[in-house]
Amino acid sequence: MIEIEKIELLEASQGRIPIVAGPCSAESENQVLDCARSLAALGIKVFRAGVWKPRTRPGNFEGAGTPALEWLRKVKSETGMAVTTEVANTRHVEAALKAGIDILWIGARTTTSPFAVQEIADALRGTDIPVLVKNPINAELELWIGAFERLSEAGLKRLAAIHRGFSSYNERIYRYSPEWQIPIELRRRIPGLPVICDPSHMAGRSELVPHLAQMALDMKADGLFIEAHPNPAQALSDRAQQLTPEQLAELTGKLVFHRDPEPADTAFMEPYRSKLEEVDLKLIQDLAERFRITGSIGEYKNLNNLAILQPDRYNSISDELVNEGLKFGLDEKFIRLLFETIHAESIRCQINKKNNT
Ligand code: PEP
Ligand code: MN
Repeated sequence: MIEIEKIELLEASQGRIPIVAGPCSAESENQVLDCARSLAALGIKVFRAGVWKPRTRPGNFEGAGTPALEWLRKVKSETGMAVTTEVANTRHVEAALKAGIDILWIGARTTTSPFAVQEIADALRGTDIPVLVKNPINAELELWIGAFERLSEAGLKRLAAIHRGFSSYNERIYRYSPEWQIPIELRRRIPGLPVICDPSHMAGRSELVPHLAQMALDMKADGLFIEAHPNPAQALSDRAQQLTPEQLAELTGKLVFHRDPEPADTAFMEPYRSKLEEVDLKLIQDLAERFRITGSIGEYKNLNNLAILQPDRYNSISDELVNEGLKFGLDEKFIRLLFETIHAESIRCQINKKNNT
C-alpha cells in the first residue's frame, strides 16, 4: 500500500491546475534568470530546469552540472518561485538537497532502471522532499509502479507521477506516444497519486504542445509540466519542443478548465450511461459467443491436421470489416486494432484447446 500525501506546491487553486514550467536545461545564469523572470510574471509558481541531462546519445550538451544549482537558488530568492530539477544518482540527490531544491524529479530513462531508482530512494531515506516520477521510456506500467514502491518503502509520501509519453517504433505524430490508458491504470493502482502531464516531451514539436495540454486536461491531469525557453531556437537541448514564455501565456489563456459534474449533469447523462452499459454487456456476450464458435473450428482444425492460423482468411475478413466500419464512420486504425486483438485472442483460445486435448 503506497501512502500518498499532498504536495502543497502542486495543489490546484481556483479551479486551475498547477503548471510547472522552465527550460529543458539550465544553460547559463542569464538564460535561467531571464526565463524565470518571464515565467514568474505569468504567475507560474514552480520553475523546472535540468541541471544534469540524460542524453540518449553521447556528445550532446549534458547539463551545466552542480554550478547550475546556484542559478536555481537565485531563481528562488529573486522570484519566489519553487524550483525542481532531475536527479539520477546519489551524487545528484545530495547536491540538490544541499542546494535547497524544493522538488525532485526522476527522468524517464532513470525510471526504467530499478538499480538507479533504488539508489535514489536510499539517498532520500529520512527526507520528505516531494518527488515526481516520470513514466519509464518504454510502455511498462510495472516499472513505473515499482519506482513508487521503492520511494514509498524509503519513507517518501509526497509523490506524484509525470506522464511524458512512451517510446514507440510506430509512432509518427508525436515524439513519444501518449498511451493515455497507462496513466489511467496507474491512478487505479495507486489511489490518490496525482498525475501531471508533460505535453512537451510527448509532442516533441512546440506546435503540438497546446493540443496535447488540452487533451491532458480532458483526461483529468492534475497538472502540466511544460518546457519553456526564452529563445528555443538557440536551446542546447530539446530545441524543437520548447515554447517561448509568450507562447506559454497564449497556451494557458486558451486552456479550457473543466468543472466537476453537478446533479443536473449526472441526471442528464444517466440514460445514456445505462444504454452504454447495455451495449457493453451485449459486446461481452457476443464476444463469448464468438470464442465458443472459434473453439469449435479449432477442434475441427486440430482433428483434421489444419494449421490454426489461416492468413488469407484473416486478411480478407479484416479488409471486409474495415470497409463495413468505414460506412458507419468508425476509424480504420481502430477497427484494425480491435480485430487484431480479437484475432489474437482467437488464436490463443485455439492453441489452449489444442494443448488441452
Ligand atoms: C526533461 O524533462 O528535460 C527530460 C529529460 O525528460 P524525460 O526524462 O521525460 O526525457
Ligand atoms: Mn527536455
